[in-house]
Amino acid sequence: MEHSEIIKLLGHVEKLNTKYYNLLKEAIEKRDSVKFVSRLLNNDSKETNCPYCKSALLNKWGIRNDIQRYKCKMCERTFNTLTGTPLAHLHKKGRWLSYAECIKNGLSVRKAAEKCGVNKTTSFRWRHRFLINETEIRPKKLTGIVEVDELIFAKSEKGCRTLSREARKRGFGSSKYIPSDLKVFSMFCRDRSKNTTDRVYYKFGADKIKSELQELITSDSLFCSLDKETYLRYARENGVRHAVLSISKGELIKKDIVHINNILIYQNKLKSWISRFNGVSTKYLNNYLSWFRAIDEFDFRITSEIILLRAKRPEEYNTNHFSKHSKQMAAAT
Ligand SMILES: [Zn+2]
Repeated sequence: MEHSEIIKLLGHVEKLNTKYYNLLKEAIEKRDSVKFVSRLLNNDSKETNCPYCKSALLNKWGIRNDIQRYKCKMCERTFNTLTGTPLAHLHKKGRWLSYAECIKNGLSVRKAAEKCGVNKTTSFRWRHRFLINETEIRPKKLTGIVEVDELIFAKSEKGCRTLSREARKRGFGSSKYIPSDLKVFSMFCRDRSKNTTDRVYYKFGADKIKSELQELITSDSLFCSLDKETYLRYARENGVRHAVLSISKGELIKKDIVHINNILIYQNKLKSWISRFNGVSTKYLNNYLSWFRAIDEFDFRITSEIILLRAKRPEEYNTNHFSKHSKQMAAAT
């Protein structure tokens, strides 16, 4: 565009009515956002590897749609910085950041769609893509004092077009009134470094729970739980030190270090957060638990930028990587 044309255009800005002023503002914000998102994703890492052969020997191969392309020196294939990630082939990059903001704020598919100006199908797809890696970012080992407890969710076929049972009124009031065939069991484990993990069991299986605890908890840990048979047997069979708490004896809240208060607080926060969705589909319960885990991991200070970067490279953007970064950001706000 010629300089004189730009001066002419700027002269018209003052005369714009509200409708056209807002359209112009939207166009500028959209352009800024595309550039910002592209820069964020292009520059996220010191080392990029070929998604096909994992080689780090690459040539830069131009920029298309603001995204850096590469050519691998080993396998000679070309790719861009998003190839092989959940963000590949998604359109409307200018709206990704505001969508990540909706995820951060726990908005429903419908509300996020309205806020970002996309349809509900796109909103659903984006949420899945932005969060798919979160189910993988779970601590593999918990150490020290490890608190364990479970929550029962009511089975829900929300969103399904055909129900495998008769429709019922929403909710059961309290988990103890949920019929056993409609219960979904989820186990939560948290150590004192705030490493938290969860598992969903669509069918209760003591052996499965025991083997997962065996994998998760190091043998020199102190395992804290209620006096339930599955936990008692796990600790006994694996020789793990077990601090057993009993609700009936009023031992749930202890004053010393042996307690499960942290996991109970975590569960309460989760229940309060998840209630905004008015029931979640059991099929996606894992995703919701992972979504909340990510929010909690950053003490509710996760940013939309971190959500996008974790969607791209989960192995690099875990809490350890960001702990310093998020503390700096928290201090700055
Ligand atoms: Zn290659």
